[in-house]
Amino acid sequence: TRVLLTGGSGFIAAHVLETLLKRGHSVVTTVRSQAKADKIKEAHPEASSSNLSFAIVEDIAQPGAFDEAIKSDPPFEAVIHTASPFHFNVTDVQKQLLDPAIIGTTGILKSIKKSAPTVKRVVITSSFAAIVNPSRGAWPGHTYSEADWNPISTSEAVENPANGYRASKTFAERSAWDFVSSEKPNFDIATINPPFVFGPVVHYLNSLDALNTSNQRIGAMVTGSCGKTIPPVGTGIWVDVRDVAEAHVKAMEVGEAGGKRFFITEGFYDNVEMVEVIKKHFPDLAEKLPTEVGEGAELPKEIFKIDNSRGKEILGLKYRGFEECIRDTVESVKPFLK
Ligand code: NDP
Repeated sequence: TRVLLTGGSGFIAAHVLETLLKRGHSVVTTVRSQAKADKIKEAHPEASSSNLSFAIVEDIAQPGAFDEAIKSDPPFEAVIHTASPFHFNVTDVQKQLLDPAIIGTTGILKSIKKSAPTVKRVVITSSFAAIVNPSRGAWPGHTYSEADWNPISTSEAVENPANGYRASKTFAERSAWDFVSSEKPNFDIATINPPFVFGPVVHYLNSLDALNTSNQRIGAMVTGSCGKTIPPVGTGIWVDVRDVAEAHVKAMEVGEAGGKRFFITEGFYDNVEMVEVIKKHFPDLAEKLPTEVGEGAELPKEIFKIDNSRGKEILGLKYRGFEECIRDTVESVKPFLK
């Protein structure tokens, strides 16, 4: 399949790209600069220029940002849209989080409708952030599935960066489904909704300071920067980045995936377990690791359940375990430790 992958320089996208190339798909990926394109090209000496090429899209929040990138010869048959800001280092939630997420998503759908009639499937990286209801906390008795939507409002969205990020994913995904139902384009969509994604870094990294947001807690443990107290776990569910990549590519390949959201998760973990896994596989890092169990480091005894059956049934996903994931993640960042 001839596919456009957006945000190729990102943590998840780098794995999606690897999976696409391994499966023999032909990929154009968008990046913000030629320097980023060069790094990706270097990482894939095996790929010919007809299998891997690049389009520069500096800012997905600009109207018409994808108008040129979507034109290709041979024409695209599928699009995988991963590009979206995932960090909390913002002063203006609207401009830095909401606009790129929402305008980026509706923008690419508009460009496809206008100029790429051969595209049949668009896979969009959404998030558990678009599913979770944070105000319910551990919500014992509830089972999270694709049927749930984060009820966050536009006024809550701009209260702080954490809300801003979750709202950016919720509103972007909603606007994609709305686009399909109102515009009735020539393509269908599928969304991938993962919670915390951990896993090996295969994208270009200058230093650990540039580590992607979801791996930062692992980075903070192995550098000692999180101190001696094991930090709170947050929502407590996770998935391996290699399984997230597999989910994106399968959602592109499998006909039945069209029109569906996929809640992609292996299950629960906590930060005490994370510390134990690192200590077991990297005894040389033991002295950096936190030792005191802080509040929220472990999962609450009573907590929601998860239903991840759709991804297993339709996409054939099999999830990697936590120990393998954390071991491989630490292995991949070790060269950056001083
Ligand atoms: P990264 O920060 O590594 O990737 C984000 C990508 O989006 C980068 O390629 C970045 O480019 C690009 N991007 C961000 N803003 C813009 C913009 N305004 N214009 C152009 N490109 C932009 O994070 P992840 O790989 O983790 O995130 C990828 C996707 O997965 C996002 O949609 C995120 O919301 C989603 N996700 C991630 C989860 C996780 O735990 N990691 C969980 C659930 C969903 P550049 O690096 O050049 O800035």
